[in-house]
Amino acid sequence: MRVAVGGFQHETNTFASQEADLDAFLHPDAWPALQGGAGLLATFAPTADGTACMNVPIAGFMAEAPAHAITCAPLVWAAATPSAHVTSDAYAHIAGMMVEELERTLRDGPLDAIYLDLHGAMVTEDLEDGEGSLLEWMRDIVNGQIPIIASLDLHANVTAKMMRNADVLVAYRTYPHTDMAETGARAARLAADIVSSGRRPAKAFRKLNFLIPLTAQSTMSDPGALIYADVSTMTGLTRVPDDGDAIPVLSASAAMGFPPADITECGPAVMAYAHSQDAADEAADRLADAMLEFERHFRQKIWSPEEAIAYAEAASADDRKAGPLLLADTQDNPGAGGTGDTVGVLRALIDTASSALCGVINDAAAARAAWQAGAGARIRLKLGAWSGGAREKPIDGTFDVITLHDGEIDAHGPFYRGAHLSLGKSALLRLGNIHIVVASNKVQTADRAMFTAFGVDPARENIVAVKSSVHFRADFQAMARDVVVVASPGPNPANHLDLPYRRLRSGVRLMPMGPTFQRSRKPLK
Ligand SMILES: [Zn+2]
Repeated sequence: MRVAVGGFQHETNTFASQEADLDAFLHPDAWPALQGGAGLLATFAPTADGTACMNVPIAGFMAEAPAHAITCAPLVWAAATPSAHVTSDAYAHIAGMMVEELERTLRDGPLDAIYLDLHGAMVTEDLEDGEGSLLEWMRDIVNGQIPIIASLDLHANVTAKMMRNADVLVAYRTYPHTDMAETGARAARLAADIVSSGRRPAKAFRKLNFLIPLTAQSTMSDPGALIYADVSTMTGLTRVPDDGDAIPVLSASAAMGFPPADITECGPAVMAYAHSQDAADEAADRLADAMLEFERHFRQKIWSPEEAIAYAEAASADDRKAGPLLLADTQDNPGAGGTGDTVGVLRALIDTASSALCGVINDAAAARAAWQAGAGARIRLKLGAWSGGAREKPIDGTFDVITLHDGEIDAHGPFYRGAHLSLGKSALLRLGNIHIVVASNKVQTADRAMFTAFGVDPARENIVAVKSSVHFRADFQAMARDVVVVASPGPNPANHLDLPYRRLRSGVRLMPMGPTFQRSRKPLK
């Protein structure tokens, strides 16, 4: 069985300031750079014991492939850090390469299926639905003759066009995304099943009509944990219709959506596939009903930084033995289009905390200054707030340079597992009793190596503030006595009522149980 494999991942925050140009895909900070041909096969090849070499869907697909006698024919794989729109130029370039590679692969010999590793929330300067168009082109090239299977992020904003042009869309089931490789493996099993049975599955698609804040989407707590437990049990579920034949549900997925995307089809969705339309519909309805039933439980307390710090300082000595209080600086989460340079939480720590660890602040100029001065030096800096996005002033102070690091760090936590992080020139600085990791590249603080590489142990702190919404939980939650989500100015508002939406569909609730959006009657440009 010969399957073409490729990927094109971007999560677009249409309210953010920095676009993803071609360079963002050629030099991403954490995941591999754009790959094609033999380079793609080598980058994602399974380890010697046959497991996925990194927690990335295409690596999981390739590790599972031999068990189903699947030979992988490489297309193109590219990903960039979440940001504002993908430029038209970058999209045309990479989608163009994908199409060319597919045509070349077809000239080399017949294909049985196509697998694509997609995110499902890509907005370009011209397209609200980058993946829908890509899938449509791929489908047109093969005249719909072979199945197309795509894996999606749990944060996909799934569209009707994506549904129409893929035979199966299968989404992650964890947030933090510890099952990215496993989702790729599930896609490989589905591809093998569809090709060998020769049957295209019936599909059912349901769109939920409310937006879920990222911080409430974690599957390490309810209601996310309950919903995804049901997703897992449902796949492989059999329904016995009147004639007595069992009908398997081939795949069921729930995508929570990526709210900071001003597009018509933003928001959660459910996708189910079975050998009969009835079975697919039944599975999709059950999941959609469960998500709707849980709507009010997706409301979650958001703290001010000062309130969170006061809570941490009030902890008894015994409480503190159970580990730090973690502050999630969600509104500047680089994983959701944040710039990583806001300083609202850091300023509150400097003003009111007795001690704390904070990171990762994205500030290349400050990191360079620390390198020039050297470890042990004391330097005057204006730290952070250089991008202007949050309309803040930088922290103007005298910092001790504690540790320097070239920023080349291997991640070992469950989320970034297997990834090599390139933070650029980096430093651990200290102002009073506040330790701050500063890097030249923006990165979501989702692996404890981002602190331990500098010689500090987050487990020994009273307060640790991280630029992340949920992914940090994978590597940090077990060491913490508690986790609170804080709101400080940044491009990823936890309260969607603060976002100037224009293109959402009318009637969608902006927050769980919240007010509905009404589209202006004025035409959108
Ligand atoms: Zn995601």
